[in-house]
Amino acid sequence: MRAVNLSKQEISEIKDLLAFPKNVSIITHRNPDGDALGSSLGLKHFLEKMNHNVDIILPSEYPRNFTFMKDIDQCTVFDLDHDKAIQKISHADILFCLDFNALDRVDKLGPTILQTKAKKILIDHHLDPEPFPHYTFSDTSASSTSEMIHRFIHDIDGVHLLDANIGDALFTGLITDTGSFKHNTNPTTYKVAADLKERGVDDYDLQDKIFNTYKEKQLRLLGHAICNRLEVLPEYNAGIIALTKQDYIDYNIQRGDTEGIVNYILMLDGIKVAAFIREQPTIVKMSFRSKGDISVQELARKHFKGGGHKNASGGAAYAKLDDVISKFKRVLPDFL
Ligand code: 5GP
Ligand code: MN
Repeated sequence: MRAVNLSKQEISEIKDLLAFPKNVSIITHRNPDGDALGSSLGLKHFLEKMNHNVDIILPSEYPRNFTFMKDIDQCTVFDLDHDKAIQKISHADILFCLDFNALDRVDKLGPTILQTKAKKILIDHHLDPEPFPHYTFSDTSASSTSEMIHRFIHDIDGVHLLDANIGDALFTGLITDTGSFKHNTNPTTYKVAADLKERGVDDYDLQDKIFNTYKEKQLRLLGHAICNRLEVLPEYNAGIIALTKQDYIDYNIQRGDTEGIVNYILMLDGIKVAAFIREQPTIVKMSFRSKGDISVQELARKHFKGGGHKNASGGAAYAKLDDVISKFKRVLPDFL
């Protein structure tokens, strides 16, 4: 199923829920990316203009390059303050679940979400949303959850409140989930971008803030990854970059430092599948990308306890780095 739209009845119920000031919590996925943060902050700015009391709960910390986003420092990070995060969710009247489809994407906050009395509204563009929310707005053809928040604001008749602050946040999600409008776009993506730009978004400035804030060690890590850690498998039209624990030490790799490396593999002529595999302290994390009909979502789901989108997915394993690489090579042919 591509889209589960909110029915007229559901939209009317949600409008009623939001008719008077409420305690609203917004939660998004672990290791939040630009879309997770952009959709959450955009919705927060919007709901605050409707006089709601809004808190964003992040399961884990956000990457450094998003520090520029307005009010991001007000987010509650579960990993840093368990009690506050749980208390916010438990006391919410309404809980928005943004940019994730499954409770394992929020780790230990899953049970809290199931237990809270809050009305749960899921807005997301990943495949196969779980049935835990009261309301589900799911559209796997949307570029980003941020694009869907723009639609949601329309649906509940809030367009007159859209301003540049909301726009900056949502535009950040559009940029990051489409690789600066290179993939996953649809006509609506550009209509939303145009509308936000008309409302005052400076897209040049946003792209500069998001992408041109590398530290020197990060750029050197990128060079190292491509020069020394890339394996090309021409017979499978695939490429792998694997980083070891030692690489993490040598380059002092921190959250967000490896963002985007996977995409360089797809710059190779003829390469249609990319795997970026990294050996973290307790777990091996994977990012997969593909072109066309090859579904790395299925590959991640079937073999690496993960998921995501057809052309962009991820997974994890408690295993040795070499074993994960071997397994990837072994199962890959089934998906070509
Ligand atoms: P990234 O490779 O940028 O971390 O993630 C790409 C996509 O895969 C994202 O949409 C993300 O939601 C999904 N993804 C990444 N890691 C996991 C995972 O461990 N489990 C699931 N279900 N999805 C993941
Ligand atoms: Mn997204």
